[in-house]
Amino acid sequence: MAAKKKEEKTEFVNKQGKRLDGRTTDQVRPIKIQVGVVPRADGSCYLEWGQNKVIAAVYGPRECLPKHTASPYKAVVRYSYRMATFSVPDRKNPKPGRRDIEISKVSSEAFERAIFTERFPNTAIDIFVEVLDSNAGTRIAALTCAAVAVADAGIPMRDLISGVAVGKAGGKIIVDMNKFEEDAPDAVDIPMAILPNTEEIVLLQMDGLLSKKEWLEARGKAFEAIKQVYELQKQALLKKYEQPVEAAENGGVVQ
Ligand code: UDP
Repeated sequence: MAAKKKEEKTEFVNKQGKRLDGRTTDQVRPIKIQVGVVPRADGSCYLEWGQNKVIAAVYGPRECLPKHTASPYKAVVRYSYRMATFSVPDRKNPKPGRRDIEISKVSSEAFERAIFTERFPNTAIDIFVEVLDSNAGTRIAALTCAAVAVADAGIPMRDLISGVAVGKAGGKIIVDMNKFEEDAPDAVDIPMAILPNTEEIVLLQMDGLLSKKEWLEARGKAFEAIKQVYELQKQALLKKYEQPVEAAENGGVVQ
């Protein structure tokens, strides 16, 4: 009962419009992106988004094995989202659970919209993403990181995929919720990803309920935040490919 009273009192956005971590309602956590961090992969990326840390490696288009899983019409996109055992406060079972399988499925569907898969029949494009540390929003951090890795692999795409998780906590619509906000008693969590140029939504999930007015506010805030994420993705790619060849091969790091 005492705990419930405490929860009811939590003010997720104060009178000055600031959240508990000091952000405004439409401010995303700091994002850092580095391209080309796994030399063995065709494309790769490391991304930090607040406390979230993810690494993505992409292989392909390559032979699709076992062969009966190949399509004569298009490349098969296989997306693997995994969390390291040490990436959460309690030990994460290394065996992929329902959540990992669900996130992998919806993310591979997002990439099927983005990649020109029809240009690579009978092949597979393998996208592996590992979450090393987490504090809510990892499926979007993973997708954002993977999109940069796919671009780094030189795989033709209609556009990058960029996203953010928008939602509600303490009755206020906020972007890029952290774990504390996601655990609010009235929390609504909406991970969303788009192809920024056409604004086609390629991933949209929702945990909780919003009124139509709240949804329109959330969507508007999410699109604004996604534009910032998109710019950072492009800057990271430019940083690698504007370097001399030797530096580009070293993930944009000049030694
Ligand atoms: N989480 C956890 N254990 C798990 C899965 C998730 O502690 O087995 C945490 C992790 O920090 C994650 C957060 O819960 O970022 C929110 O998870 P959710 O399923 O909402 O996905 P996400 O917001 O990360 O896309």
